[in-house]
Amino acid sequence: MPESIPSNRTQAVLQSSKLHLLFEVLQKQGYTIVGPTRRDGALVYEQLTHVNELPQGWTDQQAGGTYRLVRRDDQAYFGYVVGPQSWKKFLHAPALRLWRAKRDNGTFQILAEPESVPRYAFVGVRACELAAIAIQDQVFMGGAYIDPHYKKRRENIFIVAVNCTQAGGNCFCASMHTGPQAAAGFDLALTEVCDAEQHFFLVAAGSPAGEKILHALPHRAATQAEQASGARLLEQTSQNMGRRLDTSDLKNLLYRNTENPRWEEVARRCLTCANCTMVCPTCFCTTIEDVTDLTGEHAERWRKWDSCFTTAFSYIHGGSIRVSTKARYRQWLTHKLATWIDQFGTSGCVGCGRCITWCPVGIDLTEEVRGLRASEAGGGAAQTQTDSD
Ligand code: SF4
Ligand code: SF4
Repeated sequence: MPESIPSNRTQAVLQSSKLHLLFEVLQKQGYTIVGPTRRDGALVYEQLTHVNELPQGWTDQQAGGTYRLVRRDDQAYFGYVVGPQSWKKFLHAPALRLWRAKRDNGTFQILAEPESVPRYAFVGVRACELAAIAIQDQVFMGGAYIDPHYKKRRENIFIVAVNCTQAGGNCFCASMHTGPQAAAGFDLALTEVCDAEQHFFLVAAGSPAGEKILHALPHRAATQAEQASGARLLEQTSQNMGRRLDTSDLKNLLYRNTENPRWEEVARRCLTCANCTMVCPTCFCTTIEDVTDLTGEHAERWRKWDSCFTTAFSYIHGGSIRVSTKARYRQWLTHKLATWIDQFGTSGCVGCGRCITWCPVGIDLTEEVRGLRASEAGGGAAQTQTDSD
């Protein structure tokens, strides 16, 4: 697992025509490569065997409730931002069989579930996604109760980060201080410089494992001009964020506004479809399901992703706690931006913008926070008479 690294690390140059060697070297070291590829009109994270499977020459256009892939006018390998999936699908599996049971002489015998985890190399991890992985590290491994499934997957990965050289329409990592440059938590970090004259990667190692891979690649030290080109691209990305979230006193803003009428307003649009939680790289809630086959001889226990947007999620002792849409949206946003800080010492949002893109009605959490602030600025949060949960 990579450690924190100093920000003044040296950078090497890897020509874009040699990127396939990164794949080959990682494969020779026994890694299974996972990275972005084009499927069903979106960029998803899947197992890759060759550099040609990267979505070279493609970019994404994103707005509230909108995602579209279009051709770029260059051959950049990483000229897009984040798609509907995040790396959590590999670290915190969407569905995991915990154990099986078999009827045996009138009783049940529990069979342990063998768990074989590949040594993944994640290629193309963005800065906001590194921040999301760090948050899930804290959730699953930071307290007294460590999730053994997450730990096992997490320990084995090699991370190739990619600094964002363009911002998406829904990105706001700059205001969350999580991007667009990867600062820590990677083994290698690439900055792609692609213009009419040149196409190369600035490469920085962030761990001894990263240094080892870099040394196996054909590279040379970057000139000052090449480093300046990379820095300029990152600065432009920072300036061109599609969205911004004002985080000043954000936790208390949410705590002060539990009864703000804004929640009723957003609830009239929200479909409680749970998309926002499924695509969020930090949401981690799960449910447990026990299933049997028709013979009654076999049973299985599964852990599956769940969402605070379902009524079943808050079902306790004969009823659901959060019946209304208002209560569920308020729970999600307040947990994400406020109670998460009390629980884990960090915001639960890294500014990736996925929940805005993949919300079918385009609900935008940055707008919702702005709405809460505006209602206070307009004479204090109006209070509803009752909380119609
Ligand atoms: S809340 Fe939305 S913007 Fe924030 S990390 Fe989750 S999906 Fe990304
Ligand atoms: S905010 Fe949007 S994505 Fe989230 S549950 Fe409501 S409708 Fe679905």
